[in-house]
Amino acid sequence: MPTRALSTAGASALVDALARHGEPAWRARQLQDAIWQPFVSDFEGMLQLPAALRRELAAEFEFSSVVVDTEMLADSGATIKLLCRLGDGQTIETVAMETPAGADSRRRSTVCVSSQVGCAVGCPFCATGHMGLRRNCTAAEIVDQVRAAAGVLHGRGLGPVTHIVYMGMGEPLANAAATLESLSVLTRNGGISARRITVSTSGVVPGIEQLAASGMPVTLAVSLHAATDELRDRLVPINRTYSLGTVLGTASRYAEQSGRRVSFEWCLIGGVNDSIEQAEGLRDLARRAQAHINVIPMNRIEGSPWGPPEPAVARRFLGALRGARVTVRDTRGGDADAACGQLRADLEARRILRPDGTLSPPRVPARA
Ligand code: SAH
Ligand code: SF4
Repeated sequence: MPTRALSTAGASALVDALARHGEPAWRARQLQDAIWQPFVSDFEGMLQLPAALRRELAAEFEFSSVVVDTEMLADSGATIKLLCRLGDGQTIETVAMETPAGADSRRRSTVCVSSQVGCAVGCPFCATGHMGLRRNCTAAEIVDQVRAAAGVLHGRGLGPVTHIVYMGMGEPLANAAATLESLSVLTRNGGISARRITVSTSGVVPGIEQLAASGMPVTLAVSLHAATDELRDRLVPINRTYSLGTVLGTASRYAEQSGRRVSFEWCLIGGVNDSIEQAEGLRDLARRAQAHINVIPMNRIEGSPWGPPEPAVARRFLGALRGARVTVRDTRGGDADAACGQLRADLEARRILRPDGTLSPPRVPARA
């Protein structure tokens, strides 16, 4: 079984491997290009390489560390949710969201990647938080979700991936080494500019500092959900370690160093964080930080009595944000970037997932 991850192998590792098979260094460029072609789904498809070399590389490198197990469509096909299987049988979610070109905007295709199998932060409104942390994803597993999604988009006649958000399962900055390596590979080899990548965090301060030190100008999204420590301690338990003031101070320094505006995520939960006081607190924090606010009405999940507020309450909350830059994400049908861990949880409920996180074969209906 090949064990070396192909997508995160450095240029010199590829040159060395090629040299061992008597191939010149310039083939590394050909190989690197082939890795990122959405219509190439295995070594056999790398037609620019000699057949013998393709076989030799296949014995040494793993073409992809993720396999698309299930594809589900939402939003009339504009959202494609993928359940990706990893080498050890664990599964993670990857979502591709297609936005057609408008009068003054270009087509976008945003891929939402997972960074961990589960999550240790344990936000009570989040399906992934309810799983606990099973393990970190490797850099290759993060990068290969983007390659797999690009392949699925291509197969459906859609264009290339234009944006990436680290908003799937897991806390990317609790897995900072793999997250940073994946960012570096995606921007260097994958052709995605750092300005089109967003890393979302619940507030892992050392991770934000590492991201700033990397110098890659990605957008930082801070999952705020509460404007006071008292409420945030309950909604985002890592707040007990890194309080609001510490997180916001670190986020402001990140904005200064990277030159990128930070965004604040707010999962709006009926009767929990939808008061006028919380809205005014959020508005003031966002003004001070010059941050953009994304409000996401909560998606109901198994195991939580909470849900989105009544429409009138949501309108009142949004009204109190007037003056700030706000986007409301409509989660109807697609719920793509809000459905953290939910596709997996849905499948778990249908018993396709085993309790240890591995995937059982699809159930065959019993014959009458
Ligand atoms: N762990 C990181 C990134 C992944 S979560 C973070 O928390 O930022 C990505 C986003 O999905 C977060 O903003 C989170 O609050 C949101 N989310 C999680 N569960 C949700 C739910 N049930 N409804 C709506 N948004 C949810
Ligand atoms: Fe983890 Fe983010 Fe879910 Fe919180 S919202 S449990 S940090 S994945």
